[in-house]
Amino acid sequence: MLLQNGIPTTEDLETRIPPKERLAKGPVVMIECFQEIPCNPCNTACKQGAIQEFKDINDKPEIDYDNCTGCGLCVSKCPGLAIFIIDETYSDKEATVSLPYEFLPLPKEGQEVDLLDRGGNKVSQGKVVKIRNGKYEDRTPVITVAVPKELSMVVRNIRVGGDGK
Ligand code: SF4
Ligand code: SF4
Repeated sequence: MLLQNGIPTTEDLETRIPPKERLAKGPVVMIECFQEIPCNPCNTACKQGAIQEFKDINDKPEIDYDNCTGCGLCVSKCPGLAIFIIDETYSDKEATVSLPYEFLPLPKEGQEVDLLDRGGNKVSQGKVVKIRNGKYEDRTPVITVAVPKELSMVVRNIRVGGDGK
């Protein structure tokens, strides 16, 4: 339950999953922001017009998925760490999930890590394929990890130094 433990329900998530047709075209944003809070850096970070202009600062983000290029520039700008990029076209058996990661140590590209669900439970292992950690990310690195395709809507965190090493 979102209000009790911060974990969204299936019903919450259904309102945030990009359309199947868009997921089939390549990387796309998924914003797991469910509460009305005075916050809009996701909107200002997106130069493609994919995150609609907020009428009120408390609005929840509304997405135009056709405008989203999957560039990922919004991920590190969300103070709620609620933005992910999903690429279900990565390979036959794997998708990638790009996620904000503020723990140390950072993994290295090519490293196997534990894949965690929204509750922090290990669901699999996967390889880090990309790390963005420049000036733009401003201490919120964005880690892209390959995950079994069927877990693209499940994996939302990683653990470095677990069984996956
Ligand atoms: S991934 Fe890029 S295009 Fe898509 S919403 Fe984020 S900033 Fe905009
Ligand atoms: S920046 Fe993050 S927390 Fe703030 S409105 Fe956008 S998605 Fe929600």
